[in-house]
Amino acid sequence: MGAAPANIFKIPSIPKFATPQEERRHRKERLAAAFRLFAKFGFEEGVAGHITARDPERPGHFWVNPFGMHFRHIRASDLILVNAKGEVVEGNRPVNVAAFAIHSSVHHARPDVIAAAHSHSLYGKAWATLGRLLDPITQDACAFFEDHAVFQDFTGVVHQTSEGERIAKALGSHKAAILQNHGLLTVGHTVDEAAWWFITMDRSCHAQLLAEAAGKPVLITRESALATRELVGSHQAGWFQFQPLWELVTQEQPDLLD
Ligand SMILES: [Zn+2]
Repeated sequence: MGAAPANIFKIPSIPKFATPQEERRHRKERLAAAFRLFAKFGFEEGVAGHITARDPERPGHFWVNPFGMHFRHIRASDLILVNAKGEVVEGNRPVNVAAFAIHSSVHHARPDVIAAAHSHSLYGKAWATLGRLLDPITQDACAFFEDHAVFQDFTGVVHQTSEGERIAKALGSHKAAILQNHGLLTVGHTVDEAAWWFITMDRSCHAQLLAEAAGKPVLITRESALATRELVGSHQAGWFQFQPLWELVTQEQPDLLD
């Protein structure tokens, strides 16, 4: 791909909103769509997994999936709003304690993060057993080059914010973390971006597992990996990659918008 300037690819702009109400509605619709896509990609594992979207008006509050509801069934109106203490302040279903412990810490530590995604997807958790970063072996994997971390300290099911804080610290300023022996965590400036990083990261884990099972993958040079990351790894590129999936899932499952 080489070091082409980022502006040669005409990428549409991330939408802006006139009111917090419009922005909230937008985030909740995108969040519901992200859950439907996670179900479509097979990322659910029982009741594990959560994607959060920061509320545009209320600091420290985020929208999340109700605990114990299948991703495939989630509509925008099913999402619950959780405050900084972990209390459900909108919606009458419970929140997953792990969702609060991980996501509240990440949202707190990273004011730039609008959305965060975590689930026990198969290839993500298989790769996470190795305690290694992903290598730049494909164009797609370059989105994560020098922009993800490994959180090595698995001590059981996350249920305390102190553990969430350690995960947030490991994540640092990156777009993703591999939670060793657990699964993947991705963040973004939009719901679209966080969901896309999760989808493509799971597939990059799958690709590296396949490649290493077959032989010794050839690494992309650092210079080319960084140049590729500039194009495929930006906030805007992450948001844009989600758009065809949004079109697909809203046409196929319009009830998610309810
Ligand atoms: Zn988990």
